Amino acid sequence: MTAQIIDGKAFAATVREKVAGHVTRLKEESGITPGLAVVLVGEDPASQVYVRSKGKQTVEVGMNSYEHKLEADTSEEDLLALIDKLNNDPAVHGILVQLPLPGHLNEDLVINSIDPAKDVDGFHISNVGLLGTGQKSMVPCTPLGCLMMLRDHHGSLSGMNAVVIGRSNIVGKPMAQLLLGDSCTVTIAHSRTKDLPEVVRGADIVVAAVGRPEMVPGDWIREGATVIDVGINRIERDGKNKLVGDVDFESASKVAGAITPVPGGVGPMTIACLLANTLTACCRANGLAEPDGLTA
Ligand code: NAD
Repeated sequence: MTAQIIDGKAFAATVREKVAGHVTRLKEESGITPGLAVVLVGEDPASQVYVRSKGKQTVEVGMNSYEHKLEADTSEEDLLALIDKLNNDPAVHGILVQLPLPGHLNEDLVINSIDPAKDVDGFHISNVGLLGTGQKSMVPCTPLGCLMMLRDHHGSLSGMNAVVIGRSNIVGKPMAQLLLGDSCTVTIAHSRTKDLPEVVRGADIVVAAVGRPEMVPGDWIREGATVIDVGINRIERDGKNKLVGDVDFESASKVAGAITPVPGGVGPMTIACLLANTLTACCRANGLAEPDGLTA
């Protein structure tokens, strides 16, 4: 079998188009422009690239982008004061604090100081609880992107066996909650899981979110399974720098029914879902109908 490639780049473009269309209508009908504030503390090079890309795409879909760049030695008090200001700014519908923060800042405290209704990353403890109890919440962007691709590919996920490898708060755990919400039978595997290959062989859906280059080989994959590869790993091969996922694409794509590539799979969906979440937050804040197909 040769797997169908799930093209995250193309899918993300359709999500952005949908968001842009809705933003245009929102502006025409209600005079409201959704706004996303991104806060970057320090000068981590990878974070700077992500923040630039987020700002650019926010403007491209017609939303307002507000970037706040703070010095690496910014005090917790000053950062919390900025978040308080953004929480109370009606032009700001989404707030994202780029992680990781410098070591002297308490990430949990900072994230939990964001108004949950504006927490477009879905990391606030209230949103985690709402998602866990199946209530309307802001959903973390990367798992939301994975869910959208799975729904698009399968239609209903009901009754499918899903194995999520990785139990992080950002990807693994919310991914498992979303799959459970769509009536999958979910297993969360992690670094202490016994006989991981056998666990993965039982899956109709495999979501790999580990951060270990190509650790999942094709002979762990059940024939015809759908594989979502969240991993982004930079490696050197044949003297060149390369991005690879957590799944060995070459062997897995010979067995799987469908698979996301790295790059061009889950990655592009993450920012597209951030824009979708900002639009959703804006609609909720103004008591307007939420766009279809852009939330969990
Ligand atoms: P993390 O380090 O927080 O969590 C990794 C998880 O993998 C842990 O729960 C750990 O138990 C598990 N793990 C480690 N070794 C294992 C092993 N040998 N067997 C089974 N499980 C093992 O990482 P994260 O933030 O969840 O990110 C995971 C990967 O996804 C990284 O490569 C990251 O770069 C990528 N990522 C991509 C996006 C995107 O937009 N595509 C977004 C977030 C993270």
